[in-house]
Amino acid sequence: MTVRTRVAPSPTGDPHVGTAYIALFNLAFARQHGGQFVLRIEDTDRVRSTEQAEQAIFDALRWLGLDWDEGPDRGGDYGPYRQSERSEHYRHYAQQLLDSGHAFRCYRTPEELEALRADLRERGVQRALKRADLELSTDEIARREAAGEPSVVRMQVPEEGRCEIHDMLRGPLELDWAQVDAQILLKSDGMPTYHLANVVDDHLMGITHVIRGEEWINSAPKHRLLYEYLGWDMPELCHMPLLRNPDKSKLSKRKNPTSINFYRRMGYMPEAMVNFLGRMGWSMPDERERFTLEEMLEAFDIQRVSLGGPVFDVDKLSWLNGQWLRELDNEEFLHRLMDWAFNRDYVMKILPHVKERVETFSEVADKAAFCFTGIPHIDESDFAHKQHDPQDMKVWLQLLLWSLEELDEWSRDRLFAEAKSLADGLELKVKDFLFPVFVAIAGTSTSFSVVDSMEILGKELSRARLRHAIEVLGGVSKKQTKKLEKQWRSLRGDAGDSA
Ligand code: GLU
Repeated sequence: MTVRTRVAPSPTGDPHVGTAYIALFNLAFARQHGGQFVLRIEDTDRVRSTEQAEQAIFDALRWLGLDWDEGPDRGGDYGPYRQSERSEHYRHYAQQLLDSGHAFRCYRTPEELEALRADLRERGVQRALKRADLELSTDEIARREAAGEPSVVRMQVPEEGRCEIHDMLRGPLELDWAQVDAQILLKSDGMPTYHLANVVDDHLMGITHVIRGEEWINSAPKHRLLYEYLGWDMPELCHMPLLRNPDKSKLSKRKNPTSINFYRRMGYMPEAMVNFLGRMGWSMPDERERFTLEEMLEAFDIQRVSLGGPVFDVDKLSWLNGQWLRELDNEEFLHRLMDWAFNRDYVMKILPHVKERVETFSEVADKAAFCFTGIPHIDESDFAHKQHDPQDMKVWLQLLLWSLEELDEWSRDRLFAEAKSLADGLELKVKDFLFPVFVAIAGTSTSFSVVDSMEILGKELSRARLRHAIEVLGGVSKKQTKKLEKQWRSLRGDAGDSA
């Protein structure tokens, strides 16, 4: 048997460190067994998936040196490798499951589903919705069908009993069928859900070992059932421990930057990043801290993964990166540094803005310094203003941050438009609204245009600086977040109407 593993990210948002972590372990396992490592793009969510996000995954994984043998951009014998291009497979197997009675069409509306769930709750029945709960009379089905009402395809799931699955790290696991719902396989628009697409693709792509995040354990019973219904062998399963924030909660961008590009932009070395990810729950047989990808691939043994939640501790990463940097000889250090930001392209973006504001070359470095740093050293006093309270500014920064997290095109004009529309909504002068943004981004309000600065710095670093400024101003509590989210939504609505 040839070992085949895969990483299957969804191209939504920024390329996540969790994707790199899972890719690394899949790559290592495949290499250890002389097998192949596949990159599959799970883009069935047509609303949230974007081409840019897909490209960003390719770029980020390549930057880390986590290269794949087959994938959308390099082809292979098992393509296409993008789920959006594989619809006919999903439809075919959904039909097969309908024909064999392992799946059924369901015409229930969201309101009915809610009522059915409420009914179970009221009766104190603690189980998921099953086929029997969802059934409608033949007449009613015929009526809804004739009226062209939307329907989904759901899978048949046992009402009770225990489902056993095997995990390479955890051994046998038992899950309760009662808690597994009659999962939707095909949505009303004909697109598959993750579960159907994932199982069909893993089978058709010859995947032998599914190494994925722990958050998918609860999906394993559904997958096991689908493999059984379709008469296929199930790959081996291995659920990797979730990456955690230092406070042990699940890694989230509120507490830790999660975009690979953020770390790239901050000037971390890819070697250090991979080394750090390799140490997430895994260790070299001799427990040494610093090792290369090659060394990890050579010494790899998945059984050395420990299940205690690995902590994504940025201080630790920085320490490790320091070790890596100091290993570089001066020539190589210079080469990397230039590659990072001291290069012609980047400096050319900055020069036109700085040129206007200097009289001698000796002033250039000072004016441009914030374009070559990570997070500025600022404190609350930097936000002192004649008319406005820094606590109000914190709110503006949070509202702007949310808008910028949704921005698909990171350009000075779009950045300005977002700021302007929020300022208008808040009945503030744009100049005032942008004051704390200047401080957050450039560390001072006297820099060149802040929207130009943000375009130059890029989204990862800009957003991280806004987030940092919000923290410096005391942060936003959970309660306040709820309130602000409402305000943000209504401001966006207003902006939409007037645009
Ligand atoms: N598309 C899923 C994700 O984004 C893949 C999970 C799996 O590996 O099965 O994590």
